[in-house]
Amino acid sequence: MKLKHIITLVLAAAALVAQAQPKVIAHRGFWKTDGSAQNTLTSFAKADSIGCYGSEIDVWLTTDGHLLVNHDRVFRGHEMEFTPSKTLRKLRLDNGERIPTLDEYLACVRQHPDTRLVLEMKSLSDYKREDREARMIFEKLQKYGLTDRTDIIVFSINAAMAFKKLYPAGMKIYYLDGDLSPKKLKKLGLAGLDYSVKVMKKHPEWVEEAHKQGLEVNVWTVNTPEDMKYFQELGVDYITTDHPDMALKLYGQKKSDKK
Ligand code: MG
Repeated sequence: MKLKHIITLVLAAAALVAQAQPKVIAHRGFWKTDGSAQNTLTSFAKADSIGCYGSEIDVWLTTDGHLLVNHDRVFRGHEMEFTPSKTLRKLRLDNGERIPTLDEYLACVRQHPDTRLVLEMKSLSDYKREDREARMIFEKLQKYGLTDRTDIIVFSINAAMAFKKLYPAGMKIYYLDGDLSPKKLKKLGLAGLDYSVKVMKKHPEWVEEAHKQGLEVNVWTVNTPEDMKYFQELGVDYITTDHPDMALKLYGQKKSDKK
């Protein structure tokens, strides 16, 4: 084989390896850094500043019908789902910010157009409230022009179906709970699986199965260099991590690569 051909092959292989890298999603934003905290506006801006592909948030519907961004079911002694927004908004997050409303968050996302929003709708106590929350979230995303830049993630199949009904041709919806095979998710019309490290190590074959079905694979929460390499070699499409800075460095991805 001529040297020219060998070089071409090596370059093609290198390009393939580069393409096979998982995209990095900051879990609850990039919060393990100065001045940041989980699910804050700062954490989204910080995720954007280091070049993450996406940044994840968690959204609750409060008892009085407001959408707030926070992870914990019970935050500083208050159950998110059964507490009025006014009470929750008085609480401070670890960096001093208020719990953001979804409106505040989406306005912030709109200001950082290079980073995708990965929006987890938390499961609620009944399906009607879930249907209502899905509709409210969808209307907010439309209001801010973010339906094309947002992926929905849910543990609740009911919530997944509610989103699908609202926007059948559009937003990508991924399932989190880890109990359904790629084939079943395909039948439900979802975009893919977003399963835990534990589930994906038990079912590594689901990556290839998902890709054969035209689905994508995200894994959470990938926090060690060993796991970052493991899932890169397995060929997953995304990893969700509390250490997006470490993942970007390990995969050799830079903010300037996104342009
Ligand atoms: Mg979450």
